[in-house]
Amino acid sequence: MTSASGTAIWEERWHPLREEWVIVAAHRQDRPWSGETVPHEPQNSPAYVDDCYLCPGNARVGGATNPQYDGVFIFDNDHPCVGVTAPVDLSPATGINQNRPAQGIARVVCYTPRHDLSLAQLEQTEIENLLGAWQRQYTELATQPGVKHVLVFENKGEVVGVSNPHPHCQIYATNFVFKTIEIEAGASARHLLQTARPLFQDIIAAEQKDRSRIIGENDSTIAFLPYFARYAYEVYVAPKQTHASLVSLSDAEVQSFAAVLRETLVRLDNLWQMPFPYVMALHQAPTDSGDHRGFHFHIEIHPPLRKPNLLKYLAGPEIGGGNFLSDTSPEQKAAELREVPPLHYSL
Ligand SMILES: [Zn+2]
Ligand SMILES: [Zn+2]
Repeated sequence: MTSASGTAIWEERWHPLREEWVIVAAHRQDRPWSGETVPHEPQNSPAYVDDCYLCPGNARVGGATNPQYDGVFIFDNDHPCVGVTAPVDLSPATGINQNRPAQGIARVVCYTPRHDLSLAQLEQTEIENLLGAWQRQYTELATQPGVKHVLVFENKGEVVGVSNPHPHCQIYATNFVFKTIEIEAGASARHLLQTARPLFQDIIAAEQKDRSRIIGENDSTIAFLPYFARYAYEVYVAPKQTHASLVSLSDAEVQSFAAVLRETLVRLDNLWQMPFPYVMALHQAPTDSGDHRGFHFHIEIHPPLRKPNLLKYLAGPEIGGGNFLSDTSPEQKAAELREVPPLHYSL
């Protein structure tokens, strides 16, 4: 049975963007659990921390000093994993093996000078400014020689390995297209060819027809917990019109998008009255000069927690096999997020 209460769902669901099956085994979510628990993170950091490498006026490891910035501040990562200075004189690989220089551009984007805030706690206009900064970064980096993709992502919370809580995200402009984007771009191009419709338009249409997984919506933006979610509280935020990247959103669409993104993040924080850890990624078309008319920009938020202090483990099905096993009902988790108030609990 797939009722809105949804606890009895036991089926496989097709993930059309990844072109893979997700096993939904929510019928056994009350089974005894002996997995790893994680403690709540401390919540009261000061507005400025003198040894934070992201706070205004502070020194960074590379020797640079942050300006007394106000609003968004962007700099080249002092510990880049891809960079223009990556070694080019590499040891030759043997036989089938291949290697090449790790070239690209890695940047850090501070959302605000305030050390103690999160994206969910920023004002509407601050989030609009951030979206504008992301637009300009994509435009600039896409034209750099050899850049085939621009990945913007935020890791938030100690459980995803973040030691510095200063609100920030990262940008990797790479000489290859990240695998998830490659898969989504392929699926989107095939769907457009076969149906003349962008794949993501059909995903939105199905969510709007069902409505049980929609978290937030306004004139031009929608947030939903997808039918085929792999994580318990996975949420997508997308413009309703198809844009290959954030760049072509109008000012009105940016405002609308900022409002829905903000409300979505607030609901996640409010769910357990704690900063909600996640990996958030902007999925934008590759910049490899391919035909990406079917690609529909969206943000994916992947929270690793299933309960306030219980991690979703990636194990046999996910790491061993490559497909996800979900222990929760997307309909039930969406209902939980809809029930919490849209005003941040810290206010
Ligand atoms: Zn800081
Ligand atoms: Zn995506």
